[in-house]
Amino acid sequence: MNFENTLEFATKLDNADHLKEFRNEFYIPLLNGKESIYFTGNSLGLQPKNVQDAVLAELEDWANFGVKGHVHSRHPWLSYHERFPEKLAPIAGALPAEIAVMNQLTTNLHLMLTTFYRPSGKRNKILFEAKAFPSDEYVLTSQIKLAGLDPEEVLIEIKPSEGAHTISKESVIDAILTEGESLALVMLGGVNYYNGQVFDMEAITKAAHEVGAYCGFDLAHAAGNIKLNLHQWQVDFACWCTYKYLNSGPGGVGGVFIHEKHATNKELPRLAGWWGTNKERRFKMDKDFDAIPTAEGWQLSNAPVLSMAAHFASLEIFERAGFDRILAKSSALTGYLIYLLKEILKNGGKSAFEVITPTNDEEHGCQISLLMKENGKHCFEMLEKNGVIADWREPDVIRIAPVPLYNSYRDVFTFCKILEHAIHIKA
Ligand SMILES: *Cc1c(COP(=O)(O)O)cnc(C)c1O
Repeated sequence: MNFENTLEFATKLDNADHLKEFRNEFYIPLLNGKESIYFTGNSLGLQPKNVQDAVLAELEDWANFGVKGHVHSRHPWLSYHERFPEKLAPIAGALPAEIAVMNQLTTNLHLMLTTFYRPSGKRNKILFEAKAFPSDEYVLTSQIKLAGLDPEEVLIEIKPSEGAHTISKESVIDAILTEGESLALVMLGGVNYYNGQVFDMEAITKAAHEVGAYCGFDLAHAAGNIKLNLHQWQVDFACWCTYKYLNSGPGGVGGVFIHEKHATNKELPRLAGWWGTNKERRFKMDKDFDAIPTAEGWQLSNAPVLSMAAHFASLEIFERAGFDRILAKSSALTGYLIYLLKEILKNGGKSAFEVITPTNDEEHGCQISLLMKENGKHCFEMLEKNGVIADWREPDVIRIAPVPLYNSYRDVFTFCKILEHAIHIKA
């Protein structure tokens, strides 16, 4: 598309936007008494207006039915989690039987590692990316220690090459092939939380399988943000949170994907709980665990209905908007942002910042990360003073994420004007 650097043009794009009405379905936080430019949907997605009624309905049913709500509430709590796999299948690119909604992200990563990190003999290494989210790193190092091994020896960290900000696909694949038979698991973020880079999950999975390793992804920054085809890519497992791009509320319930070829295998070792056992026999309370032959077989506990109610309400919006249409707008909206940032760089902004997110379409989602070269903190404060809610990562990165369901082209345009102004006013 040929973009133009004018407010008229941004307004024209908004008027032509098929998803523009969806902004009204969210509460937009105020800053200084005015609707903010909310660019932190990659950290906590906004509240959809339908969430309150959905949660209230469960509270009412609890008040009215007490324990009988497990069976008699509008959406019986006994099977509440079963509402999700169909709704998430298009977002994850998965079969419903490969999806379970349960726990939270870090817990789920531990559950998946327990199944998919089974070091034996020489095959004991895990490959992951440098600057992964700290929680992921804690999961990996603690799992390695639990297995009686030394993270210094078996955790292989892959870094960007000298002077680069992102990790090339080739270097990931090279590292996998180099480690070869010593590799037990490859685990990366599908979208890096820091620089916004999207990894080629299909190619990486294929390389991992070639050397006989499992391959899993943390999709915290990918779920609801980019096109996923987990089933077809043969990914072994993936986990995500739902409070970022999936707008399901702070600390919301998490999601997992376990490929059909594993999910159906009742013999796979796992940490088990009563919600993962054969439903016919669950309430017989017998002592033998009989895994459900789907991703549900990894569930531990009965459904956290209140947070699930919020998640379900949010997913209804994704369904109504259509995930493909959301992705198409995302590509145009972030494309416009990249175009405007390049205009600022052309007009004397080069000394102020650098875009460290890859700018080709396949390698980014909504999020763009700016490495601030001078007065970064000051610029960030100027953004906030002028109504922008963005994210500051020490020491020098501003992350911004225009989200297609509730951000507008006008938001993007106005943000860039504020940024341009801020970088020309010295601290
Ligand atoms: C957001 C995020 C987390 C947060 O984990 P929780 O268990 O949901 O608190 C973990 N890993 C990554 C990569 C994230 O982006």
